[in-house]
Order: sequence, then C-alpha cells, then structure tokens
Amino acid sequence: MIAPALTIHGAARTVTGSCFEVAFGRRRVLVDCGLFQGPRTIEALNREPFAFDPAKIDAVLLTHAHMDHSGLLPRLVAQGFRGAIWCTEATADLISVMLPDGARIQEYEAARRNRRADRADEPPVAPLYTAADAEQAAALARPVALEDQFEPAPGFQARLWNAGHILGSASVELFAGGTRLLFSGDLGPEHKSFHLDPSAPRKLDHIFCESTYGDRDRETVTIAERRAVLEAEVKAALARRGNLVIPVFALERTQELLLDLAHLINEGRIANRQVFIDSPLASRATEIFRRHRETLEDLGSTEIFRHPNFHFVEGVEESIRLNSVTGAIILAASGMCEAGRIRHHLLHNLPQPQSTILFVGFQAQGTLGRTILEGAGRVRISGRDVAVRAQVRRIDSYSAHADREELIAWMKARKPVSGSLFLTHGEAAAIEALRREAEQFLPSVIVPEIGERYALPAGAPARRLATGRTDLRHVLSRDWQNDYAELAANLKSSLQRLESDAQRAEAVARLREVLGQYGAFRARRRTKPGA
Ligand SMILES: [Zn+2]
Repeated sequence: MIAPALTIHGAARTVTGSCFEVAFGRRRVLVDCGLFQGPRTIEALNREPFAFDPAKIDAVLLTHAHMDHSGLLPRLVAQGFRGAIWCTEATADLISVMLPDGARIQEYEAARRNRRADRADEPPVAPLYTAADAEQAAALARPVALEDQFEPAPGFQARLWNAGHILGSASVELFAGGTRLLFSGDLGPEHKSFHLDPSAPRKLDHIFCESTYGDRDRETVTIAERRAVLEAEVKAALARRGNLVIPVFALERTQELLLDLAHLINEGRIANRQVFIDSPLASRATEIFRRHRETLEDLGSTEIFRHPNFHFVEGVEESIRLNSVTGAIILAASGMCEAGRIRHHLLHNLPQPQSTILFVGFQAQGTLGRTILEGAGRVRISGRDVAVRAQVRRIDSYSAHADREELIAWMKARKPVSGSLFLTHGEAAAIEALRREAEQFLPSVIVPEIGERYALPAGAPARRLATGRTDLRHVLSRDWQNDYAELAANLKSSLQRLESDAQRAEAVARLREVLGQYGAFRARRRTKPGA
C-alpha cells in the first residue's frame, strides 16, 4: 500500500505558524493553519502564497484556538478552502470570537501603516484578511467530541484527544493507508486549572511532539501553592492602597486568574475588592468558559465567572473611568502590553508609587511588558514619556505548557512507536535538548524543516522525499538584531551588577574599544592559542 505523505508548512525549528499537510491518494488534510508571529522577518511568511492550493485541501483538523495554530484559517478560506474545520466544540466557539478579533487587528494595522506619511508614495498595504473572511472561516467549524471517531476526508479516520493546554485543546490522531499518526498540538502541564492532564493512545507509527519548553524544567507548583503566591501578591498590593494592574492574555490566563481570585475572595483570604476585567475579548472568552463549565475541572459548584465582585468592562468610556478608582484589581489585555486597554492603565498607574503592576505571563523580548519587567525607569507609551514609580512584580508559576520532563513522559507513554518521532514547535535549543533524550528510547527522531516532505510508512521510519527551504534557515535562527535587542535591554543592569564605578567605566571603555577596532580585535584573537 502507498504510504501517506507529510509536508511541513510551519512550526518547524520555530514555535509559530503550525501547519502540517497529510496527503493520501488524491486527498489531503491540514493539521492546523496558524499565523507566524514574532520578528518582522518571521511575520512576513504570513503574506507568502500558500505552498499548496487551498481549494484542493479537503479538511482541516484544528488542535486549538491559539492564533499560532488557527490564525491563517481566514486566509485559507479567502483563497478557496471550502472543507470542514474539525475541532472540539469549545474550540469552535473560541475561534468564532478569536478570528474576527485577529482580523480587526490586521485591518487596524494595515490602516495605520497606510496613514504613515513616509509611505505616502507606496502602494497601500492590504490587511492579511478581513473580519468577513474570519467569520466565513469560523462558520466552517465542525465540532466533534473528544475520542469520537470521524472521517475528515475519504480514506482518513481521525480522533481528537484532550491535550490539557487551553479550553478546547486537542491532540489529533490520524489514520490513513494503514499508518497511524499522532500530532500532540500544544500540551498542557500537570496541575493546570480547568483541564485534566493530556491523554492519547499508544502504539503509533509516527508521532509529532511540540517542543516549546523542551529545555526547561519547572518546579512543580500545585494549584493551592500558586493561590498562596497570588494571595501574598494581592495582599501586598492592596496594602499599598493603590490599584493592582495585571496585564493578561484574553484566553485562558484571564480565566485562571478569575478562578483563583474568586477562590481567595470566597475564602476570605484577600479583602473583598472589586475586580475589573477590562478587555472585550477576555469577557467573550470568559463567557465561552462559562458555557463549557460542565467540561472544566476545579470550578466547584458555584458560578465563579459570575462572581459578584467581577465587573466586565465593555465600552471605552467605562474603561477610561477606571482611572478614577483606587484599591481595585484591574485585569486588562494585551498580555505583553503591546496593544489594548492595558496601555492606558499603565499610563495612569505606572507613575504612582502606590500602584502595583503584576505580570503573570511570558513577556517576549522587545515588548513593553518585558521592558517594564526588566526595571526600566522610564518607558514610552502612545508617544508619551512615563516614569515608572509603581511596584513591578511577577508570578511565573502559571503556565499552559508542559515542561521538559512532562514532554518526555508524554512521548514515553506513546510507546511502542514503530516509525519516527518528529520534534516540532520549538526553538533550536529546546528541540536539541529533547532530541538527545528521545534518542535514548525511540528508534528514529527527526527534526524537520519547513518545506520538507516525508513518506510515512506503517511500521518503519519516515523517509524524506523533498528537502526543506534553505532560505528560511537564517530567518528562523536568532539573528544579530535579536542578540542586539537583548544586549541593549540588559546592558544597564549588567553594568550595575559590577562592583564599582571604576569597573563600570572600564567595561564601557572596553566595549567601545571592541566596536571601534573590531577588525584588529579579531586578528588579535586569532593569534592567541586556543582562542
Ligand atoms: Zn497554544
């Protein structure tokens, strides 16, 4: 029998743009169709033509609603895809709000660029897709229950398994031409609020495992321990009599915090304060959590998302009015402070010593959130220079991703795997760490590249049929601009760690010297033995 073939279109040696195409006979399905996110060179990949004809894709199997897995679906539909998008019911509900929200951001960004005076002579930028495309895509969602078998295209059988990552998240099991495949999607950690630990079948031919935190081991923190940490932070913030401002991601992190805050208020462990959720997307996502509350763990019997202390802020005026409250807890998006209503709360609260900014999520290099977290004394927000006098705090025990140990455990639980393990959805260091370990217990480990195509036979390792895109290698590896951004962001604190002003002066002088005479410096290094 002819084996199915796999083509990698994203999330290979990088963490975004998830998209795998599986072809069998004349039929083809996609697992995920995600947006590339990050530096401009990576985001440019979103505008490239698809490497396949969208009209010839029979179906999409969607692991979860995060944009790096679902965010190119509207473009796929705009370019002719008419099949079903198979996913859990919660994912179908979530993409009906997330995709149109993503489209509004795309439309806003395009309009903003077109207004810029320095682009006056250039052709206008079109948004990547429109809200209408997004709504059309969401309408193609075809919900299925976890572990129910279905036929996404003739010749394909599939099942979705709980991935424990966010509401609705699933791993995808796919069977075609006698070959059994399993795509992990993003995997959640142990001790995650709302969701059971990931589950999936064993005895597979080929498995695809995400590697996001493949080189990180987290201390195991139970839900009770995490709540105790949050309790201490909230108490300290409220004791300062200012506001507690928490930048949040609209999906999942907002609801995890609401669950924990409701619990602490109900137990009388923190003062009976008002909690404002100032993000229309977070409010809608919370309503979807409420709708699916029967499927969620840890909720208790009460309607925690309708807690009397919670206020979902809708209009912009109501949001601005929050600048006159004090002693409140304010959750606002976006989680990395790059856009959204969090920015006016920061403008208002950062200069106030009695306010507290509490980070509970990952802050990527180069974002406003990261700059504040790293101790900047002043920041620029919406063209204004703002002094940072507020307390800046962080809790890093909330996570939606499995760590190294949990990823390894997930792979081992799939044995026997008679073919290959593909390590996807991770950066080079994370993938390398997992590869070294996985090779101890699996016969074939593959680190694929975007553009590669593989035959996936039953009972034997995958065979590469086509090589990947070499032009992307430098885009996906860290370039000097990333290193520069990191150096610049940490330069001041690195210098402050030195012992004396004399040492700092010498360090600065030596940096200057290296930059000024780099060629001579290289030559000197080459003549030193062992350098
Ligand atoms: Zn995800």
